[in-house]
Amino acid sequence: MILLIFLLYFLLFVFGLIFGSFLNALEWRLYKKKSLWTRSECPNCHKQINWYDNIPVLSFLLLKTKCRNCKEKISWQYPAVELVMGLLFVFVLFYYFSFADFSILSIIRDCLVIFVLAFVFVYDFKYMEVSDSVTLGSSLLFFLISLFLGASWLSMIIGAVVGASFFLLQFIVSKGKWVGGGDIRIGFLMGILLGWKLLLLALWLAYIIGGFISIFLVLSKKKGMKNEVAFGTYLTVATFITMFFGTHILEWYFRLVF
Ligand SMILES: [Zn+2]
Repeated sequence: MILLIFLLYFLLFVFGLIFGSFLNALEWRLYKKKSLWTRSECPNCHKQINWYDNIPVLSFLLLKTKCRNCKEKISWQYPAVELVMGLLFVFVLFYYFSFADFSILSIIRDCLVIFVLAFVFVYDFKYMEVSDSVTLGSSLLFFLISLFLGASWLSMIIGAVVGASFFLLQFIVSKGKWVGGGDIRIGFLMGILLGWKLLLLALWLAYIIGGFISIFLVLSKKKGMKNEVAFGTYLTVATFITMFFGTHILEWYFRLVF
């Protein structure tokens, strides 16, 4: 039994690494508007990367962080994203073993959600943009899976409407200065994922996290560090925290207040 559990964890970790690798490829191709079906190439010398130089994390270490052909440094973003995705997938399994009813479909859904959130995070962080095909396409997918898993369709729809209008209003009032159009779509996706109650918690958390990071950035004034971080990144982090700990946070809060 212990061996089986260990094997499951290992499997999820490897899946996470592979999804991380896919995320890196997808993010780059969407931005450069390249086909998804071409082989990976070095962004510097454009030489195709051999499969044995494209193994998550391992290749980065074996190649001593440089391209085999042109010796240009490979961005640390690639292995970092792969590793974090591996750990997050392991976390999902741990969560369902420890805090929730074990369900394969729920685990698959949550891993896919993490993939989408991580994608939006990386894309918004790097390019200050949100890819609509990803947010809107995945909203529909997660609506259907969650419906199948017994979530309330009404709560999801209200959540999506509230989430989207929250940012749409700010967009209209500020004429697009406070928030971008992408945030409206992220708000929509958050509503589908969380339902309207947890959505409110997630929005509140996003502003708290954003506030702390802004203070940190202002105080540290590190050179070369971006002074502005896209709001979509805070939204994805807040959504992740709320998805897994939202009900616990609310219970704790209400026990504290009442
Ligand atoms: Zn190269």
